Amino acid sequence: MLTFHVVTLFPESLESYLNASIVKRAQERGAISIKYYNPRDFAQADKKSLMTYSERRVDNRPYGGGPGMVIEAMPVIRAIDAAVGKKKGKSKVKIVFFSPAGKQFSNEIAETYKKFTDIVFICGRYEGIDARIKKAFPMTDISIGEYVLTGGELPAMVMIDAITRRISGVLGDDLSIEESRIASPDVYTRPEVIEFKKKKYRVPKVLLSGDHKKIEEWKVGRKK
Ligand code: SAM
Repeated sequence: MLTFHVVTLFPESLESYLNASIVKRAQERGAISIKYYNPRDFAQADKKSLMTYSERRVDNRPYGGGPGMVIEAMPVIRAIDAAVGKKKGKSKVKIVFFSPAGKQFSNEIAETYKKFTDIVFICGRYEGIDARIKKAFPMTDISIGEYVLTGGELPAMVMIDAITRRISGVLGDDLSIEESRIASPDVYTRPEVIEFKKKKYRVPKVLLSGDHKKIEEWKVGRKK
């Protein structure tokens, strides 16, 4: 089983997506599990509950000046420690630090990462997280694309989704993994003809022909 540990100030922003459809079923079947760690719960070394609003505060002004706040290192370090501290240094544990400047996430990375037992995702917010967390725990910087988001929660969901669907047995039919077959960006289903504002739209004839060679050629053509 692969356990995803998500360190985030906003766990509620991931829950509805990850508790639906295929990722939900993957959890129910025991292929994956997802745990959340809110740095606010680790803001004080020995206190986890009944903290006041200011005791739960984890952001602070940046050294060197500049706009925006920075998330303090210690609450995040304690959260990572709670997630995988006991497994530190184990080869099957991976810690991911999200950054727009990180290595671009890809299917190849998803394929490698599905072999880990534990993956920790560190979701930044605001100006980011105090970089000393990277000294306390070795981690890999990952970006999900050349744009800047407001937080690491979407990147965590993207990676959980892309990794989970590659785990054997998660998709109804392993052939559904698109990279291992010829899949088309354009797909069609019943009925054969639809009508909208007096105009008719038909399924491409080749898909109704039963000629599998021609259908495969059509799908390859759609990819270009
Ligand atoms: N000041 C940071 C910098 O220049 O790298 C950007 C901070 S960004 C506004 C807030 C957080 O969103 C980041 O810490 C990271 O967790 C996440 N983030 C934003 N864009 C991302 C991307 N393209 N890929 C992965 N994570 C991203």
